[in-house]
Amino acid sequence: MNAPHPLSTWARNVSPSPTLAIDAKAKAMKAAGEDVCGFAAGEPDFDTPQFIKDAAIAALQAGQTKYAPTPGIEPLRQAVAERYAAEYGYKITPAQVVVSPGGKFSCYLGILAVCSPGDEVIVPAPYWVSYPEMVKLAGATPRFVLCDDRTAFKLTPAMLEGAITARTRMLILCSPSNPTGAVYTRAELAALAEVCVKHNLYVLSDEMYEHLMYDGGTPVNFAMLGAEVEKRTITVAGFSKTFAMTGWRLGTLVAPLPITKAVAELQSQMSSNATTFAQFGALAALKEKAKAAAALAEMKIAFDRRRRFLHAELNKIPGITCLLAGGAFYLFPNISSFGLKDVDFCAQLLEKEKVAAVPGSSFGAEGYLRLSYATSDETLRKGVERLTRFCAGLKK
Ligand SMILES: *Cc1c(COP(=O)(O)O)cnc(C)c1O
Repeated sequence: MNAPHPLSTWARNVSPSPTLAIDAKAKAMKAAGEDVCGFAAGEPDFDTPQFIKDAAIAALQAGQTKYAPTPGIEPLRQAVAERYAAEYGYKITPAQVVVSPGGKFSCYLGILAVCSPGDEVIVPAPYWVSYPEMVKLAGATPRFVLCDDRTAFKLTPAMLEGAITARTRMLILCSPSNPTGAVYTRAELAALAEVCVKHNLYVLSDEMYEHLMYDGGTPVNFAMLGAEVEKRTITVAGFSKTFAMTGWRLGTLVAPLPITKAVAELQSQMSSNATTFAQFGALAALKEKAKAAAALAEMKIAFDRRRRFLHAELNKIPGITCLLAGGAFYLFPNISSFGLKDVDFCAQLLEKEKVAAVPGSSFGAEGYLRLSYATSDETLRKGVERLTRFCAGLKK
């Protein structure tokens, strides 16, 4: 008998998510009784607000346990369309909204809808770990452009121009950014949008952290930067980060109609609708505006306090430099002065001091750490103390 065939090229070429892997290892150490400070998680440490849970429970009790329309329940698509109009003046019909099982899947479907094998997709690094893998799973090729702390982790129009070829089909942008927390200004985005229109590129604008901005910053909706931009923009957002709903698996994609129709068709064969009763929880999050605003404000105050604390403490550590990020819940300190590969830095940090951090190289940028401050003040304080001691040890 022959041995079974090897696994597919898709299975062999995909890299598992390093952030989920490190977070899982830290959680396993914790479960084994070790005193681990986790800075690796990519999710809020808050629980989902009660009014959202109540709405989902009520829907479940009322029998919302069947298949729903593939692109989402009608009132939720309507509410998403209304919120884009209210927040950004982006006027769309509910038909331009697709609700998916997670913003991650929304991103993948957006890429699949417009990218074919042989196409190139520009992915600025540091990037969210899933973008390159999703591009490859669509048969397309990611083209990385390294944007380090010298450009505040942001792509410039010149860097974008330099990476475009005849085969470039899409640019992926994420502002506020996971993993750096960087936020593009409206002018910076407008300058990038101009290049995208000139070269006829689609833009996947990942606006998952739009509501987590600090220092009075207000989010920019990329599609609203111009009529030609709108025709080329696929906006992904969701509930995971804004309302601490990571486990609910709900994301939204908004785009011109031909794209959302394609996305809905792809989804109809790949997953069908997002969990029906969960969508009623999301509907409450959009409809009960006063409660939603209060829940969000509470989280933001805590994140902002931790952000300032962590930023100040990191910059006190000899050998570390860290920019103050304006959004999301991550800082991305530069640790290259220690002369250690970031992967080794993180492995030793976890081993010696039981602090879990993700190496920058996981995000395409060697020499950095991603630290999530979506963790308790107590963990932050303890973790920083340990990191300081660890770095002092390296300096000797
Ligand atoms: C968390 C996250 C997502 C998707 O989140 P879901 O949990 O799948 O809704 C998408 N993009 C970025 C940058 C994220 O950090």
